[in-house]
Amino acid sequence: MSTIIHKKIPTYYNFAGGEWSESTSKELIESFNPATGELVSYSQKSTIQDVSQIIESVQHSFLTSDWSMNPKRRYEALHSLAEKMTEKLEHLALILTMDQGKTIRESRIELSGCIDTLKYFAGAARSVFGRSMQLEPDNFGVVVKEPVGVVGIISPWNWPALLMIRELAPALAAGNGVLVKPASLTPSISVEIFKLIAEIPHFPKGIVSIVTGPGKSIGAAMAASDKIDMISFTGDTSTGKSIIEMGAGNVKKVALELGGKSPNVVFEDANLDKAVPVIGRSIFISAGQICMAGSRVVIHESIKDEVVKRLKEYAEQLRVENGLLETADMGPLVSQSQLDLVEEYCEIGRKEGRIITGGYRKTGETYDQGFYFTPTIIDGLMAGSRVVKEEIFGPVLAVQTFSTEKEALHIANDSDFGLSAGVWTSDLNRAVRMSKGIKAGTVWINTYNKNFPETEFGGYKQSGLGRTRGVDGLMEYCETKHVHIEM
Ligand code: NAD
Repeated sequence: MSTIIHKKIPTYYNFAGGEWSESTSKELIESFNPATGELVSYSQKSTIQDVSQIIESVQHSFLTSDWSMNPKRRYEALHSLAEKMTEKLEHLALILTMDQGKTIRESRIELSGCIDTLKYFAGAARSVFGRSMQLEPDNFGVVVKEPVGVVGIISPWNWPALLMIRELAPALAAGNGVLVKPASLTPSISVEIFKLIAEIPHFPKGIVSIVTGPGKSIGAAMAASDKIDMISFTGDTSTGKSIIEMGAGNVKKVALELGGKSPNVVFEDANLDKAVPVIGRSIFISAGQICMAGSRVVIHESIKDEVVKRLKEYAEQLRVENGLLETADMGPLVSQSQLDLVEEYCEIGRKEGRIITGGYRKTGETYDQGFYFTPTIIDGLMAGSRVVKEEIFGPVLAVQTFSTEKEALHIANDSDFGLSAGVWTSDLNRAVRMSKGIKAGTVWINTYNKNFPETEFGGYKQSGLGRTRGVDGLMEYCETKHVHIEM
């Protein structure tokens, strides 16, 4: 069945073999602006047949071009993309906000993060070092790093530009061929970035491709394909588990960046003037739709009332509105189903605890067509409540209290997730003890959400497998080979 196309709305195509192509299904996916409900783009509803052909074209390019052996070419290609994205930043920011709903200010931050990441990994492409060593008087060992081969990158909708580039840049820097599948809710920004890739002659034809379509069919086909050597997946923990199962057929390498339920632990000696706005931002940025959201605040009992009062004030002064407005602090949620989910958790919070602020959908003439929710704080929940345990992926902060450092550590770690945590204290010894005790891939001391391409990011426990960013992030996309020489 073909879709009825509105001519003014952009239609995005797959990019493979260095060319733009339509899906054999002739069907399109419609994407809507979460702030207004308006149609913003069409993209290809690709089939398993499309994906198989595209995977073959990436593999062909990987095997026949000089990409894997030419670090300087990789440097030029990634650097050129960074430059093109810099030129187009405002245009891309508009697309990102209309695609995803986030504020325009946040879109600029996300895109600047992409540019920084591309520049870092452009340089890293020329520094994929192995090592060499004398092993015996006549035995010499050389350990070399080689690309894995064809990498499938499956990305989510919440930070669709950066979470794609965060994987694309190191995968390409290491010399792999790459096929990206963006989330169906937010394909526009990814394909817009591929329009820039298409203009860069340093990329061999077909080495980097994009296919759009449903995760359950084409994402799964990528995960199961024996022509894909590695899947880099960012998304929900349950999907991540199924990716591991699907990839088992060819013992595929898998890197997973999954969910979180991260705590901010606030001790009685914390600088609250600094802590409160950062903690507030850590949960309300992206309307809470961010893997590292500080979705639990764990407060020493002696300062609990004061911290909650200040967080309530912070939440209530946020301007929730269409992200295209420069004044917006928080945009809408990404979809109706995300809105329903957040409402459901707030209902649980209302029954099991006490809503301090928010807890409802924002309605009114300018809000009704979008998926707006109020910044929400919930107190008085038991440790086993679903609101405390599960990732909500919305602007909902759960308050927990402790009386001793030991209890604070126990509460911080009382989660199936282990993505990130914040510790707020002016006692350096305590900060170090907490950072050692917390089971999470990132621990921020007296700050939160500070991310750099140089520093590794990833999850303990059910928050993921492997690391992205930094040296380990580059090595994730490499195989290790020992070449042994006997003289
Ligand atoms: P999701 O798992 O629903 O989808 C992610 C991607 O996987 C999409 O492209 C989707 O189409 C695809 N997909 C869905 N089902 C699939 C299947 N069966 N096989 C293969 N691919 C499939 O996740 P989402 O809702 O897009 O993103 C939100 C989740 O992502 C949250 O849990 C969040 O914490 C997590 N996340 C983690 C990080 C991190 O760095 N750890 C970053 C951002 C988001």
